[in-house]
Amino acid sequence: MPRQGGRHFLQIPGPTNVPDRILRAIDHPTIDHRGPDFASMAKGVLTDIRTIFKTEQPVVIYTASGTGAWEAALVNALSPGDRVLMYETGQFSTLWRNLADRLGLKPEFIPGDWRRGADAQAIEAVLAADTTHDIKAVCVVHNDTSTGITSNVSAVRQAIDNAGHPALLMVDVISSLGSIDYRHDEWGVDVTVGGSQKGLMLPPGLSFNAVSVKARIAARSARMTRSYWDWEEMIQANEKGVFPYTPGTNLLFGLRAAIDMLHEEGLDNVFARHDRHAEATRRAVNAWGLEVLCSNPEEYSSALTAVLLPEGNDADSFRKVVLENYDMSLGNGLGKVAGKVFRIGHLGDFNDLMLSGTLCGVEMGLGLAGVPHSTGGIVAAMDYLMGRRQNA
Ligand SMILES: *Cc1c(COP(=O)(O)O)cnc(C)c1O
Repeated sequence: MPRQGGRHFLQIPGPTNVPDRILRAIDHPTIDHRGPDFASMAKGVLTDIRTIFKTEQPVVIYTASGTGAWEAALVNALSPGDRVLMYETGQFSTLWRNLADRLGLKPEFIPGDWRRGADAQAIEAVLAADTTHDIKAVCVVHNDTSTGITSNVSAVRQAIDNAGHPALLMVDVISSLGSIDYRHDEWGVDVTVGGSQKGLMLPPGLSFNAVSVKARIAARSARMTRSYWDWEEMIQANEKGVFPYTPGTNLLFGLRAAIDMLHEEGLDNVFARHDRHAEATRRAVNAWGLEVLCSNPEEYSSALTAVLLPEGNDADSFRKVVLENYDMSLGNGLGKVAGKVFRIGHLGDFNDLMLSGTLCGVEMGLGLAGVPHSTGGIVAAMDYLMGRRQNA
């Protein structure tokens, strides 16, 4: 491909655009990770990251992708052969299930149609039937990035309580943290699994476990093999501002900047910005005459929108046209919806004009690729964005 001028549009739902301020923060000489400067930086980051998870409990930071933190959640709190209840909301829940299976757990999937979120009533029914309390954890993906579905975590908590079941609640917030409201403590979550490269606006390379007291107690008797992922070793070292091994020092400088940026804007404003961009995107999709994959409006994701193409149109060919002509990367369909959907990421460091440019690229791409659609999606999105700006 010949070089194209201007800036590439990275509109996949993660990794997201890394703001210059974070790039500048990472661009810092690597320092002694056992020295005093590191300890004061690390203590601040380890304390302040809790405000993003809305927890007062420890948040363990791993130098790993989100998948590592998925594994960490399971191996710290569970024992070989434990039953784990998971809910199929899309490809990410499927991958977490597969990981649990390979680790020697017994994951049980409540099947879903990839168009709706975790059904709390179905979870409650399974838990109520487990009178011997063999199920040790319930795992849900808050925002399934493959389908653009946001599940109601507080309803899942309620379901566990209604069933009077002691299972731990584990939640993947890799693509919702810093984009969609999430409350680790208030919602009674035991392990929250996060990642750096989506709403936190960082490059890939850090991931997180926020850990409840109940989960830490469970870890004492949990028998799965663990070493690198061990929470207690980390939490104890972290109290002194150190890590048991070399941390991702420069990414932590970036994380400092990311936390500051989220608070300067205000978390509620960050969430409202994401809601607004998601609504504008859906208005464009409707005007194009295309369908949003998520079929329940209460579960629309504010981080990304997965769009179904009309039967007979290959979503990957469409994405190729957009990349080659407009230098924009859109997310591909994963797993069961491969080739059928494309995904527009509208999370992280993002504003009205970036969204407008993104939707322009999609609309022009639909035209060039010969996908049947109506024009006017951009206008519908702009009308909404302008109206909301005036009312704000
Ligand atoms: C991106 C993502 C993952 C996987 O994270 P990696 O950093 O690629 O390992 C898991 N779950 C969700 C919801 C994600 O969006």
